[in-house]
Amino acid sequence: TDRLIGARKKDEDEAERSLRPLALADFVGQARARENLAVFIEAARSRGEALDHVLFAGPPGLGKTTLAQIVARELGVNFRATSGPVISKAGDLAALLTNLEPRDVLFIDEIHRLTPAVEEILYPAMEDFQLDLIIGEGPGARSVRIDLAPFTLVGATTRTGLLTTPLRDRFGIPVRLHFYEVAELELIVRRGARLLGIEMTADGAHEIARRARGTPRVAGRLLRRVRDFAAVDGVKTIDAKEADRALQRLEVDERGLDALDHRYLRCIAVSFAGGPVGVETVAAALSEPRDAIEEIIEPYLIQQGFVNRTPRGRVLTAAAFGHLSLPVPAGGVA
Ligand code: ADP
Repeated sequence: TDRLIGARKKDEDEAERSLRPLALADFVGQARARENLAVFIEAARSRGEALDHVLFAGPPGLGKTTLAQIVARELGVNFRATSGPVISKAGDLAALLTNLEPRDVLFIDEIHRLTPAVEEILYPAMEDFQLDLIIGEGPGARSVRIDLAPFTLVGATTRTGLLTTPLRDRFGIPVRLHFYEVAELELIVRRGARLLGIEMTADGAHEIARRARGTPRVAGRLLRRVRDFAAVDGVKTIDAKEADRALQRLEVDERGLDALDHRYLRCIAVSFAGGPVGVETVAAALSEPRDAIEEIIEPYLIQQGFVNRTPRGRVLTAAAFGHLSLPVPAGGVA
């Protein structure tokens, strides 16, 4: 799904990098996670030990990669990054692990997408800092054990439920990230505007923040697009009115929902009378992959109270019908 608020990493990575906070103190929001991490980092540092393995879980664009980089920086160690789908063979992971220096951070994004064979290698590496490799094939094959430097694995996943239990159990520090409050996103937008040299009023920043789907990555993207519209319109200072005009043209509605959110809600409202309807059915009707629906579209709509996940399927709420300006079906909503 190639959408403005898709919250997936892609072409704008470069632009995003420039907005990335580099220290825990500059990281806005997620107060509980930040405070706990600060304590664990300080403790590991003072003992001169590797930090326990950390798992960040939460929807895309909430700052998992950013926090992983900050953890390495605050520990004063190297940051190495890879992702689940990129590590196809056990040997790929072995190469990464054997190159780590003591206390380094190895970041694995989308860690739920590791293959079982690669996961097998990871268990002893995480637990005992050892690598068990099979060299050769057939009768001549032998197993060798390699000692690794003590390191910190930082994993990121959109949902902890996607991880196998043995993998999940090996993270001493599980951290769940939540959607951001509007006030927090406002700080993030203002910081972004300052870094990008954009003139913006407080209500302009507020308008973008409250329509950013609770997600810093979306806030950053909206900010850049609003700046483009303002430039073309010849507007020097972005206020709420200019932000609203641009966001309307981007089809981002009052609540921050975009065209795909609307398609999703309308599909359930109109084609399935508000549900319950299975996610596979919705995915087929929208021609969108099921993962994208579950990981990108639904979490925010659920958090906003527009849809519920029930054992029988997805059910729209009265609030969703209200938002779509559609009448609630005669039988009411489940
Ligand atoms: P994830 O790994 O969860 O998908 P990222 O860490 O890549 O998310 O964050 C996406 C972008 O959002 C980053 O480039 C960064 O600029 C911005 N960002 C995320 N969290 C924050 C935050 N707490 N404060 C400021 N900017 C943030």
